[in-house]
Amino acid sequence: MVDRLGPELREPIFDRIAIVGVGLIGSSIARAARRVKAAGAIVFADASAEVLERAKALGLGDEYADTASGAAREADLVIFCAPVGANEDIAREVGPALKPGAIVSDVGSVKAAVVAAIAPHLPQHAHLVPAHPVAGTEQSGPEAGFASLFVNRWCILTPPEGTSTEAVAKLGRFWRALGSNIEVMSPAHHDLVLAITSHVPHLIAYNIVGTAADLEEVTRSEVIKFSAGGFRDFTRIAASDPTMWRDVFLHNKDAVLEMLGRFTEDLTALQRMIRRGDGDGLFDLFTRTRAIRRGIVEQGQETPAPDFGRRAAQNGDG
Ligand code: NAP
Repeated sequence: MVDRLGPELREPIFDRIAIVGVGLIGSSIARAARRVKAAGAIVFADASAEVLERAKALGLGDEYADTASGAAREADLVIFCAPVGANEDIAREVGPALKPGAIVSDVGSVKAAVVAAIAPHLPQHAHLVPAHPVAGTEQSGPEAGFASLFVNRWCILTPPEGTSTEAVAKLGRFWRALGSNIEVMSPAHHDLVLAITSHVPHLIAYNIVGTAADLEEVTRSEVIKFSAGGFRDFTRIAASDPTMWRDVFLHNKDAVLEMLGRFTEDLTALQRMIRRGDGDGLFDLFTRTRAIRRGIVEQGQETPAPDFGRRAAQNGDG
């Protein structure tokens, strides 16, 4: 699996980019963009002055603004990298400050609700090209980011109908320079796909870890001691940022409930197989699911190495 960024660009794709929200994703974009020289200058804004100070201490940006609108004012590309629930307030503030022709994007894990929250606040001359880098970890904050986070990961662009194709192509070039593969789809389709590949799996992890924590007949120390039996992998996902994931479920309600309904039906079928001693049924399903894992490894989205808690397991999917 290739996990390194490509060479430096001969000239930046954007002269000036503004990143609003300097967490795991915002700081990783900055690190990668600086490494390959995809941006002439990077200016940061964050709701927290303390987080901004930490970003400054890490030397992540060229400038640090007190407000989102201050950061956005001269920017050619403004990327919202805060939790999804903050996007509407940020758009309301940033909209009037945008320079003519600026591209506005985000990194949110849900898309239809994000378009609905941002689009009404942008001036006619701006281009909204929402994006979702399907890459992440269970860590948060500017210290958690790293330049190769997006390498060989998908970045899904979900431009609303009628968006300038030039703007979409330019943002695609930016993400490609950061190492991503690009896919373009509608916001609604994105939300359905991600509900089953990311959102429901996170919900299941939160639920199983919660259930284990509540069990009275198994002690907490036993849960931790024997965690290698599968539980440990769930705890990694269930350690993901509570604010981010609360917002994901509040803003992708319909697709998540739809997929959860199907999941529940399939779980009931599994329950029946176990009750009836249907070994063939269980074996058939487990054989099919094993093939899916092989497909993911073959497409370079995961390593075939056995996982003994390795660091590479940090590539999540937010
Ligand atoms: P994070 O590490 O928690 O960083 C988010 C930052 O945004 C924090 O510094 C937060 O400040 C700041 N913030 C909150 N409200 C703000 C506002 N109104 N204006 C400016 N800054 C604000 O989060 P993250 O993991 O980078 O996630 C950010 C976005 O990326 C989310 O929309 C998420 O859906 C998406 N995403 C995440 C992953 C992942 O695996 N983590 C993957 C793909 C996409 P405070 O800490 O003070 O609140």
